[in-house]
Amino acid sequence: MTEPQITVYGAYWCPDCRRAKQFLGEQFIPYNWVDIEQDPVAEQLVIEKNNGKRIIPTIVFADGSLLVEPSNAELARKLNLTTVARMSYDDLIIIGGGPAGLTAAIYAAREGAQTLLIERSGLGGQAGITVGIDNFPGFPQGIGGLELSARMVEQARRFNVEILQAQEIGHLALHDGYACAVNAAEQHYHSGAILIATGASYRRTEASGEADYIGAGIHFCATCDGPFYKGAKEIVVVGGGNSAVEEGLHLTNFADKVTLFVRGDQLTASQIAIEKATAPGSRINVSFNTAVAAFEGENAKLKRVKVRNRVTGATSAIDAAAAFIFIGQTPNSAFLQGDVAMDEQGFILTGHDLSHAAIATAGYRPAPFETSLPGLFAAGDVRHGSVKQVASAVGEGAAAAIAIREFLRKR
Ligand SMILES: Cc1cc2nc3c(=O)[nH]c(=O)nc-3n(C[C@H](O)[C@H](O)[C@H](O)COP(=O)(O)OP(=O)(O)OC[C@H]3O[C@@H](n4cnc5c(N)ncnc54)[C@H](O)[C@@H]3O)c2cc1C
Repeated sequence: MTEPQITVYGAYWCPDCRRAKQFLGEQFIPYNWVDIEQDPVAEQLVIEKNNGKRIIPTIVFADGSLLVEPSNAELARKLNLTTVARMSYDDLIIIGGGPAGLTAAIYAAREGAQTLLIERSGLGGQAGITVGIDNFPGFPQGIGGLELSARMVEQARRFNVEILQAQEIGHLALHDGYACAVNAAEQHYHSGAILIATGASYRRTEASGEADYIGAGIHFCATCDGPFYKGAKEIVVVGGGNSAVEEGLHLTNFADKVTLFVRGDQLTASQIAIEKATAPGSRINVSFNTAVAAFEGENAKLKRVKVRNRVTGATSAIDAAAAFIFIGQTPNSAFLQGDVAMDEQGFILTGHDLSHAAIATAGYRPAPFETSLPGLFAAGDVRHGSVKQVASAVGEGAAAAIAIREFLRKR
């Protein structure tokens, strides 16, 4: 692993320092963090570099140059990220640079479509932040999420996909019936078709310590990460719905005991899942009216989960090898509210999943992966009915690109 070439000098209370650190983290750019309130030498250095002023964040780069209180746009420029498109019009715009978006880009560009991919943070999406992906075909020993993402990006660039980073699409605008993507700076990106591949974010408990142990004992996908805990004594599952119960059952393949922490006083999963979980001999233990109070660890790894009984207020702690959180996912589709048909949770409806009513309103029969707005497609985790895996996101990206090819051909 190479030493970070960038040092961020700041203080823990400084919001601009947090923003700069978050930006670097999202772009997977390693950096050193120095809290100047804990380090008088570093504080002096900041004062010297700023002509006697104590301004933070002060960010020092490998060549000795520095940026003081930079905006995200200034940071992006300094890091040579491409943030401005070459062309004013593309055949296809893809919003989101996760596995679905990158795969669609590879397919479309390889067939000659001028393709622009726009990503707000790190290329690779959720896959990019995953330590190890064990179930993506073709990698018998598994592959790091960052490496898999880097390979997809390299392949997309080989086919001349234009990639913009640090650009968030805030809304769509309609011009003469065609959608165009608009970023926060009100720049309009025009194209023949748009693919929404903006993924979803796992809901978090927001209990203290949660952010510290994500990927180090706290997980959101049992299929992906359960096998790492083969032989564990106890695993905790947070949630009481279908995912929590079904994934909890799956986790009994690895751990001796799985304890479900449920906020309410009953499970809300399907009857069949509940029957399996509560059957005699089941290794699932359910704790109702239980809210997670804190996640605690040792040696940078989760060690125990503190909980509070929501009725009695009593607190207790349980040692656990891992905690899996299944309290739902939020699709990254808020910027499309009112533009396309979605399910009640905000996942985008496409193709067959559009109800007859939506088809009647839209006045046309959408192609596979096409939304209720003609020429606007959706693939991957943001799509209603998707199964939230890298392999399926990749498959959907490929299939959507082929559907888009047909759409563009007929126009
Ligand atoms: C911790 C973790 C571990 C996982 N482990 C595995 C595993 O082992 N195996 C497996 O198969 N799956 C795993 N998954 C699930 C898998 O990563 C996802 O199913 C997959 O990444 C979905 O791909 P996607 O392209 O649809 O969306 P995402 O990966 O979510 O990518 C969407 C991208 O769109 C960008 N975006 C969102 N909104 C905007 C906007 N308005 N403008 C511009 N860009 C935007 C986001 O920044 C993101 O980069 C894991 C997920 C997590 C979180």
